[in-house]
Amino acid sequence: MQTKSGECRRCRHFCDKLIEPMRCHEMECRYLYAYADEINGRTYTGCLHKVFGVEIDRELMLELERSRFGFGGIKVAEAPLPHCPFEVDVTFMGEGEDFECANMPFFDCSGSDRYCYRINEKDRKAPA
Ligand code: SF4
Repeated sequence: MQTKSGECRRCRHFCDKLIEPMRCHEMECRYLYAYADEINGRTYTGCLHKVFGVEIDRELMLELERSRFGFGGIKVAEAPLPHCPFEVDVTFMGEGEDFECANMPFFDCSGSDRYCYRINEKDRKAPA
């Protein structure tokens, strides 16, 4: 079973790593860019590091964030940086040898000794 930046399938939990672009917006991450499309007048936002690999309609994101469920998370496309607010979504719960995590570093930042902040921590700071 292989591990990509956004998912791990080494045991039967089948974990996915998600990032919430709204949290990037709230922390005013300097790697979050935005541009206005001259043709349709919409503003799109994305991550310079491609931690999430899509560009999002910013007004739609803000509108959905005000809804009951919020905008939600996107599976990461590249390894999160130490400050990136990601969470791990566990698909299947179970017990026994097949459900023993074989990849604990997946829950932390790739290539870093620093423990990553979780999405619900409100006091995280973007790098200056
Ligand atoms: S670098 Fe991390 S926190 Fe900043 S925009 Fe990209 S995903 Fe969000």
